[in-house]
Amino acid sequence: MRTIAITNLKGGCGKTTTSVNLAAALAIKGYRTLLIDLDPQGHATLGFGVIPENQKRTIHDVIVNPKVSLPKVLVQTNISKLLLAPSNVLLSGVEAALMQMKDREHVLLNRLQRYERYFDYCIIDCSPSLSLLTLNALDAATEVVIPMQTHYYSIEGLKQVMETLGVVQKRFNPLLDIRGILLTLAEHGTVLCKDVEEQMRDYFGALVLKTVIHRNIRLAEAPGAGESILTFDENNSGAIEYMQLAEEICYEKIRLTQTDFVHI
Ligand code: ADP
Ligand code: MG
Repeated sequence: MRTIAITNLKGGCGKTTTSVNLAAALAIKGYRTLLIDLDPQGHATLGFGVIPENQKRTIHDVIVNPKVSLPKVLVQTNISKLLLAPSNVLLSGVEAALMQMKDREHVLLNRLQRYERYFDYCIIDCSPSLSLLTLNALDAATEVVIPMQTHYYSIEGLKQVMETLGVVQKRFNPLLDIRGILLTLAEHGTVLCKDVEEQMRDYFGALVLKTVIHRNIRLAEAPGAGESILTFDENNSGAIEYMQLAEEICYEKIRLTQTDFVHI
């Protein structure tokens, strides 16, 4: 199982949109996919039309109670190969519980390990904070994808994310692969966007994924229908871009590490 954490310390940069649509694209391509909503806001949960407050059991229970196994919380989405581990606001209390636990950075990894063989991909939608919960996601992950709004301010924030990932690699998860920076919310044909994209590719080279996700109103509308863009409007350019992202992630096996961008 490849476990991809979708992370950035910034909110509103397309983490959840990417988690939902990348997971959907992988499942539609035929991979057995697990989407874990690891944000107490429950947006990835809502994105599949699942009401967070109505869930009796969520990923929170799996983390805090070893007797609740992962399959007990999984919800079938409208895509046959895609299962969702939902979350809701209760997850915001998980930090305190984790603090009391042994091996507190490795709890999620331990809970997932038994089920690895049932899935090809696990996508984790992270919250924008560097909490113990996010550390658990980065510890459980084999790879990270960092969505970044195509904007000058985002570049500064990104350096911070990279430093954090460097620390995680050093202390918890030396095999964590920075799979790529994903440019999101790009405006078609603006000079600003072109400039930022150029700067990013200059700084980070091959670490910037080839696929760029453009701003597209249908991507913002799909969650309202409780669907990913791949089923909501499959011919839409957003659907095509997320399908391209899935292909890029599946087939390009480049292995990059922190040392590839020491020149920042
Ligand atoms: P995050 O999870 O990082 O906070 P979201 O994925 O929730 O970010 O995106 C923030 C807002 O922007 C949401 O309302 C979402 O629908 C919208 N959005 C995200 N990506 C796009 C896009 N490519 N085009 C248009 N709207 C988008
Ligand atoms: Mg989100």
